[in-house]
Amino acid sequence: MRLLLRSPLTWRTQYPRGIHPAIRNMSTPPTTEVLYALTVAKFPARPSPEDVLKKSHHAQNGFRNPWESFRDLQSRDIMQTMISRRLNGKANTPDTTPPTVTVRKPEFLPSRDTPKLRATWLGHACYHVEFPSGLRVLFDPVFDARCGPCCGPFQLGPKRFTEPPCQIKDIPVIDAVVISHNHYDHLSYPTILEIVKRHPNCHFFAPLGNKSWFHSSGIQNVTEMDWWDERDIELSPKEGKGPQVEPVGEAPVTAEIKARISCLPCQHITARSAFDKYKTLWASWAIESGGSKVYFAGDSGYRSVDEVPEGEDDWDPKYNFPICPAFKQVGEFRGPFDLGLIPIGAYAPRHIFSPAHSDPHDAVHIFKDTKCRKALGMHWGTWVLTEEDVLEPPKKLKEALKKHDLAETGVFDVCDIGESREF
Ligand SMILES: [Zn+2]
Repeated sequence: MRLLLRSPLTWRTQYPRGIHPAIRNMSTPPTTEVLYALTVAKFPARPSPEDVLKKSHHAQNGFRNPWESFRDLQSRDIMQTMISRRLNGKANTPDTTPPTVTVRKPEFLPSRDTPKLRATWLGHACYHVEFPSGLRVLFDPVFDARCGPCCGPFQLGPKRFTEPPCQIKDIPVIDAVVISHNHYDHLSYPTILEIVKRHPNCHFFAPLGNKSWFHSSGIQNVTEMDWWDERDIELSPKEGKGPQVEPVGEAPVTAEIKARISCLPCQHITARSAFDKYKTLWASWAIESGGSKVYFAGDSGYRSVDEVPEGEDDWDPKYNFPICPAFKQVGEFRGPFDLGLIPIGAYAPRHIFSPAHSDPHDAVHIFKDTKCRKALGMHWGTWVLTEEDVLEPPKKLKEALKKHDLAETGVFDVCDIGESREF
């Protein structure tokens, strides 16, 4: 039985050409808005790994990474190591002098007609995905100059070295926003407020523990999910509102947009202050809509690497660091995917950041484990969070693809900020 979790919400789009043939044939944009009702319904449980029922990622006061591939480092230890690397001259300071990553103005589709799956990188971990069904999803949007907490009129945290390619107001349709976790480079209060201002009926999806943050920000349209939870999303033209739509030929009058969203595991940490480490869950996500399946890996580590002598490969079999088993489970139970959005940056030094951030070599393993046919890189090119040079991730990605006998282009690519790719 379908359990409706929310009452229908209204929905707005400016150019609903893809919704119904009668609207598609309009030569000019309609003067009346089309309103849609959005429902989020619980989907009957599909097979998932046996260990899921144990909820081994639930801890007494929050959540944990239940795998030996994870090693917990205290923030204090990370700070101490980074400072001592700086003092003894071991640290690399990335040069952000332009030109670095090319930023171009994104071109969003003017309607919901989408012959192919389309993804546009909007910097760091933010992707706007246009599904063939007409669904429009924004992942981990952060459009601020800095990624950090707000302190009165100021925002703290690192300053971007590449500009956002557009503003929220430039994105014509946002139906859903999907958040991987609450770190400031993935969840921004000013950006979320701007999205709500421009798209008041947009629905937010976030891992367990984040609902109260949205509620205290005045946002009620939020669904909180645990790993392996799934929901059905339906967008239906709202009766009695919007332009009068006459049926064309035998075309059905209803033109619903349907999608299935899955919250899935990954290996990470959460906190927005010194007092809430692990209090909220982190996640990767899958969305299937209009015959296309997208996997958004969020922010994730794959292994926990010890410090190895300079010049040595930490993938050398003699090290054999345990890998996170969750990605193979994702591939087995929810794959394959047409497109993976996979993090490739913020990884150096490896013995500090590997538990929480994959490097390009780890990213290619994630790509293969999750059974993605194609992938695009993310989590680089925007803020200096770690020590690697800002243009190193795409170079290392090519090396990793070569090592795995994969084509260096056309399989797992990086794109310019603001660039769209079709699949
Ligand atoms: Zn993070």
